[in-house]
Amino acid sequence: MPDTQISTLIRSRLTETPDFPSPGILFRDLSGLFADGAALRAVADELIEGFGPIDAVVGVEARGFVLGAAAAVAGGLGMLAVRKAGKLPGEVLAESYELEYGTATLEVHPDSLPRGARVVIVDDVLATGGTLTATLRLMERAGWEVAGIAVVIELSSEFDGRGVLAASTDAPVKALV
Ligand code: AMP
Repeated sequence: MPDTQISTLIRSRLTETPDFPSPGILFRDLSGLFADGAALRAVADELIEGFGPIDAVVGVEARGFVLGAAAAVAGGLGMLAVRKAGKLPGEVLAESYELEYGTATLEVHPDSLPRGARVVIVDDVLATGGTLTATLRLMERAGWEVAGIAVVIELSSEFDGRGVLAASTDAPVKALV
């Protein structure tokens, strides 16, 4: 689907809610997109397109699971979950990162894929880039090669998430809106 068409489709299914979940945040909600099968399929296809051969899709909790699983199925690939701390049993790699207030930790199972596997990381929104930078560190420690990062929405007028990611990776960053 052409870039302008996918962008128009996403915007038509996007809800923006001021001051949620806290004052000053304009929350972008993709529930309307997730509920529309044709739109979800179109976005899923776009998220993994153009990165060359891929072994698996990595989805970041929680909306990255919806998008990552849809993209993985669309590409005939498996999906790996990068989860919030304490959700994955057994051996995990963990990376903490700064939030506006406090810190958060993400975890992954390192034995889910062989070292050298090529993955595309998927999430709904790129804001400060903190979440995806922590995810990149997990991929590096697991020995997986990041073929690309794909998000539905990049908040480029509010944050320099793309610049932050460029400090950690040469992998291409694709934003559909
Ligand atoms: P960041 O780590 O700052 O790039 O934030 C990205 C993560 O926080 C993503 O997983 C998003 O789901 C969520 N997020 C950050 N800002 C927003 C926003 N304005 N609307 C919806 N989700 C957001």
